[in-house]
Amino acid sequence: MQELLLLLLPVAAASGWLAAKRSDRSQKSVVSEKEQNPAYFKGLNYLLNEQPDKAIDIFVQMLDIDNETMETHLALGNLFRRRGEVERAIRIHQNLVARPTLDRSQRAQALLELGQDYMRAGLFDRAENLLIELLEIKQHEPQALQNLRIIYQQEKDWTKCLDVLSKLEAITGEMLGAERAHYYCELAVMARKKHDYVQAEQLLKKAQKSDSDCVRAALVQGKVEAAQENNVAAINSFKRVVQQDPAFISEILPFLIQCYLKLNKRNELIVYLQQLYQQQKSIAVMLSLSDFLQEDEGNQAAVELVIDYLHKYSSLDGVHKLIDLSCKSTQDALADTFLILHEQLAMLLKKRAAYQCKQCGLEVKTLHWQCPGCKSWDSIKPIQDLSLSE
Ligand SMILES: [Zn+2]
Repeated sequence: MQELLLLLLPVAAASGWLAAKRSDRSQKSVVSEKEQNPAYFKGLNYLLNEQPDKAIDIFVQMLDIDNETMETHLALGNLFRRRGEVERAIRIHQNLVARPTLDRSQRAQALLELGQDYMRAGLFDRAENLLIELLEIKQHEPQALQNLRIIYQQEKDWTKCLDVLSKLEAITGEMLGAERAHYYCELAVMARKKHDYVQAEQLLKKAQKSDSDCVRAALVQGKVEAAQENNVAAINSFKRVVQQDPAFISEILPFLIQCYLKLNKRNELIVYLQQLYQQQKSIAVMLSLSDFLQEDEGNQAAVELVIDYLHKYSSLDGVHKLIDLSCKSTQDALADTFLILHEQLAMLLKKRAAYQCKQCGLEVKTLHWQCPGCKSWDSIKPIQDLSLSE
């Protein structure tokens, strides 16, 4: 409250000063301000009685809107929005927009601010109308487009996102290929869910054309091929993901293994995994290899692989696997201990965040292509449960 009073006092002073200035202009004789402007004192009274809502209304109504006071209104409105007091910001900016005395650029500025207030309040329809109006009158176009993009992303209207992106690129000259690729991927995922694989593949081609490094496009492509039992093509797509960003190996591995097994190419798969393990030392690849080793050569061979890994790298998943294998090979009283350790560790691992945003550091349990925190695209990656101790 103290802070708000400090903020409102200059507004009150400005209102009083303007009122005095008006009375000087209109009348030669000096008339007391109180007689001329009872509203000013009423407002001041509200302020002192800690009723800032009523005080704001009075002071804002008292301020004539001209070049000098327009800035005061905007500053006050912005301050309220930043403080999260959106309703107050809306009231101030609505009051500005309603004034017929504003010139074209002042009105446009007020529209932009009001649009941002509505966005902050979650009133996207109202914000969208104002921002479209700004585009129509060709004022503040880059900001209007940026804000429209945020709204359409929020509403998951990816076709409108693509349209806004093209306009934004044309106006700013900035190429936004990575974002464009994600919008196409979003549409492709929707088509895949409807089993419209032809449409999905067309959209994925556009995604890859927009951003040749788009990991997501290759990943979705693999899933679309796999859904159609095109296992060879699916394997190629999943391998492309690995080449583009090895951090995503854990994302494609279960699908890749399934495709190889459907083609009855188990040995070929193991050779590929061994090659990959040599290159990346990925925990996910090691765990898959240990499963095959266990099937082919028994528990001890798998235990040796896991222990070898844990001698070089720290990994909770590796420890979990070792306990799992130990449960199966231990017959004595230790078996119960291993079982409890295994269950407890499984619960801990379940609670762990598996992904982290490289931009804002947010940790999440599932993969998001757009960070729910900072809204960056492509910034969230699987957390590598790996620390070199060699
Ligand atoms: Zn983030």
